[in-house]
Amino acid sequence: MGRKDNLKFDYRQLISINIYNFVPEIFHTMETSENKQFNLDRRYLRMARIWAENSYCQRRQVGALVVKDKMIISDGYNGTPSGFENICEDENDATKPYVLHAEANAITKIACSNNNSRGATLYVTASPCIECAKLIIQAGIKRVVYSQQYRLDDGVKLLEKANIEMVYVETID
Ligand SMILES: [Zn+2]
Repeated sequence: MGRKDNLKFDYRQLISINIYNFVPEIFHTMETSENKQFNLDRRYLRMARIWAENSYCQRRQVGALVVKDKMIISDGYNGTPSGFENICEDENDATKPYVLHAEANAITKIACSNNNSRGATLYVTASPCIECAKLIIQAGIKRVVYSQQYRLDDGVKLLEKANIEMVYVETID
């Protein structure tokens, strides 16, 4: 009985094999929705990387974008709070404690706007730290696309625990 079932002719399989083997050009021209999302993710991440160039920080420049309903609703890069001098490091070349991370700047910018980050995607050029992870969760962000793994992964782990979709992109060239 079970054996007979196994021998059943599965025409769907045959069709997929046929298309794959004999008409491969179809796959080159067809942009699947997954492919499209993958390409969009990389483009936004590249934009975030360019945005990081705004940062005055010497040690590390990080950029972030918040995208909702195909619109960039916020942006950020690491730096001191508004009104403070644009110097991120102290005399010992250590990052000042009041420097805001790119994600924190992008999220707090939404707090000052009429926009709302619920359900949005955050693009950030480095993996979020634990402090930013907390803000991301509370801001209702549902997806994080990032490159460059930070030395500590507790932020990423917290976001995963909060069921936020984490997408790591190794290179964004
Ligand atoms: Zn952070």
